[in-house]
Amino acid sequence: MATWAMAVWPSWPAIEAMNTHAELPAKPVPDVTPESAPYWEGLRQHKLLLQACAGCGQIRHYPRAVCATCYSIAVTWIEANGAGTIQSWTVAHHPFHPGFKIEVPYALLLVDLAEGVRVNAPLRGDPAGLQLGRAVRLIFENGGQGFVLPAFEYSAE
Ligand SMILES: [Zn+2]
Repeated sequence: MATWAMAVWPSWPAIEAMNTHAELPAKPVPDVTPESAPYWEGLRQHKLLLQACAGCGQIRHYPRAVCATCYSIAVTWIEANGAGTIQSWTVAHHPFHPGFKIEVPYALLLVDLAEGVRVNAPLRGDPAGLQLGRAVRLIFENGGQGFVLPAFEYSAE
């Protein structure tokens, strides 16, 4: 059975054959949906926007059509202040897409934002400093093809 991953991602021998960075393919970019379009546009303006339910006020992330608390589809957007703490992480040593080959090893964080939601984004800093509950702050970086993506760095304390 063909899967999306099999159809899009090159085989491991093809990845191994990419010995120079110039041969690396571009990183994948997000699919923009009607629900997520304001989120991506906010990132382009260096703002991390979160959905806030217009019915009950529940803040949610990732962007989606329906509130899981009250099932309202009415939504407003708020800007996250960018402060958070590390809830968990994983360190990637293998590039599961060849576009990430020159970045490994890197840490992918699960961050609790001050607004009460969790965000996945990479750490831009030394993974040796990883610690549960450590304060981080949001930064923005070029994601290619017109996208700006969130990342985190350690907060100065
Ligand atoms: Zn709601």
